[in-house]
Amino acid sequence: MSRIAEPVSVEFTDNPVDAAMARVLDDVRRGDHPGTVADYIPQLATADPEAFGIAAVSVHGHSYGAGDYRTPFTIQSMSKPFVYALALQELGVDAVCERIGVEPSGEAFNGISFDPSGRPENPLINAGAIVATSLIGGVDGAERFAAIRAGLSRFAGRDLELDEAVYASEAATGHRNLALAALARSTEALRIPVDEALDPYFRQCALLVDAHDVAVMGVTLAAGGINPITGERVISAEVARHVLSVMTGCGMYDRSGAWMVSVGIPAKSGVGGGIVAATPGEYGIGVFSPPLDEAGNSSRGVAVLQRMSSEFGLHLLNRPINPVSSVASAETDPSTGRTVLRLRGEVDFVAVEEVVHEALRRGRACSGSTVVLDLTDVTRISTVAAYLLTQLASDVGYGVRVVMQDPSSLCAAPS
Ligand code: GLN
Repeated sequence: MSRIAEPVSVEFTDNPVDAAMARVLDDVRRGDHPGTVADYIPQLATADPEAFGIAAVSVHGHSYGAGDYRTPFTIQSMSKPFVYALALQELGVDAVCERIGVEPSGEAFNGISFDPSGRPENPLINAGAIVATSLIGGVDGAERFAAIRAGLSRFAGRDLELDEAVYASEAATGHRNLALAALARSTEALRIPVDEALDPYFRQCALLVDAHDVAVMGVTLAAGGINPITGERVISAEVARHVLSVMTGCGMYDRSGAWMVSVGIPAKSGVGGGIVAATPGEYGIGVFSPPLDEAGNSSRGVAVLQRMSSEFGLHLLNRPINPVSSVASAETDPSTGRTVLRLRGEVDFVAVEEVVHEALRRGRACSGSTVVLDLTDVTRISTVAAYLLTQLASDVGYGVRVVMQDPSSLCAAPS
C-alpha cells in the first residue's frame, strides 16, 4: 500500500474564522435538533450523543475548527464519494457510468435502487456504492481495501486507520447489504464474488476520521482534486467536478432536494454522524454529531450547515447579482474619437460581455476611430472571453477597429 511520505503538520489558527464557527456551533447546540444515534450497526450505538465538532479547510490550505473536531469516528457513507472518485480516476467516467448511474434515486441509504437494466441508480447509496467498491482494482477483497485505504488517506492527507470493532460489528450484522450486493450480482452490475466487494465496503465504512480530516477530504474535491495541505493531486479536475455534481443531487439520501434548497452545498452524510461538504473553489467542511434525523442525516450537522450556508453565503447558487466590472476605466479622446478601455482582474463570460458591448458602443459612436483594449492588469481570462476578444479584434465585420495592448493573457487562457 502506498503510504504518505511525510506526516504533514496542520496549523490551527486562532482567529475570527474559528470564532465565527464556534458561535454557530454554540447556537446550534442550544437549539432543539432531535435525533437518535444509529444502532443498526451495534457498535455505533456507543457513540457519545453530545460530541459535536466542525472544521473547515480553505483551498489556501488553512484549517479552522470549533468543538470536537479532533474526535475520531467512522467515516461510513462519507467514504462513498471518495471511493467513487477513485473508481472514476482508475477506469474513466464512461466505464464507471456504464455500471452505476448518477441519478438522485430519492431512496434511503439502504434502498433497493436499480434502474430497469439492473444498474444501481445512485453511487452514493449502498447499492451503487458497493458496486463502486468492486470497481477498485485488486486480486481480492484485501487488496481492494488496501487500495481504497491508500486512496482515502491521500484525500485526508494522512494514513487513516480502521476501527476493527465497528468493522466486525457491521460485518456480523450487515444482512441487508449482503442482500443488496447479491441483487447487484444477479443483475451483473457486480461482477466479482459478493464477499470480495462487501468486505472491503464494510472496511472502508469503518475507517476512522475526525471532522478536520473530513474537511481536508472535502476541500480536495473543492480544489479540483489537489489536496491543498499536502499539495498532492489525488484525482483529476474532471473527476472532482463529476463527484461534486453527483454529491449535489445525491448526497443526502432522500432529503437531497430539500438539502439543495436550504443549504445548497454538495455534501455527503454518514450514519456515524458525519457530513462532508465542499464549496467549489472555496472550502471543505467536516461536521460531526452522532444523533441522526429520520432520514439518517446528522440533525445538528444539518442545522449547523444550514446556518453556515446562510450566514457565510455558501449556497452554490448564491452568485453575485452584480458582478465586479472588468472595465477599470474607459476614456475617449474627443478630438480623435480614440477610446482606451483598461481591463482588470478576472475576465469571464459575463465580464467580457460588458467589455464587448462597451467597445462596440464607443467605437460605433465615432466612425473611423480606434478602440484600444488594455489588458495589462488582467490576471486571468476564460477561454470564451479570450475567444470573443480575439474575434472582436480580428473580424472587420463589426465595423469597429479594435486593438489589444499587452495581449499576453489571451494566450494563457486557462479556462
Ligand atoms: N456502513 C453503513 C451501511 O452500509 C453506511 C451507511 C451510511 O452511512 N448511511 O449501512
